[in-house]
Amino acid sequence: MVVSKNYKIKEQNGMYYIVPSSVPGCPQCGGEMKIRDSKRRKVIFADGTVDTFVLRRYKCTVCGRVHLELPDIMVPHKHYSRSAIIDTINGERNCSAEQSTIYRWNREKMQLERLLVQVEDKSPEAKRTDGDNNCRCAGN
Ligand SMILES: [Zn+2]
Repeated sequence: MVVSKNYKIKEQNGMYYIVPSSVPGCPQCGGEMKIRDSKRRKVIFADGTVDTFVLRRYKCTVCGRVHLELPDIMVPHKHYSRSAIIDTINGERNCSAEQSTIYRWNREKMQLERLLVQVEDKSPEAKRTDGDNNCRCAGN
């Protein structure tokens, strides 16, 4: 899996296509990757909105591994958007997730923070994409 920060989101037929500005190198071996196919993934935002995103899958031309490209609004293995999870575990927002889900996030907090920090690390200017509007509903 590759986490992408530089991408555009295009809406088509009610689905959101993640269009990266460039093809990333293979995270395993650094080799060149080619687009293989795409995969749909649903994301739940803090207000309960569910959107379908179409993510790209790449295949490395060197080691042959397949990598899914995940935009940084998502968290690996989570259905909720990154900002929904962050705000909820920081206690800044009550999101639409069930109590049991929130309980689990809190229990996984350390692990999640590590995941989120990994994503955060690379470049500071992530937040300027259009798609982020969804998760920042003007509440205050
Ligand atoms: Zn490779």
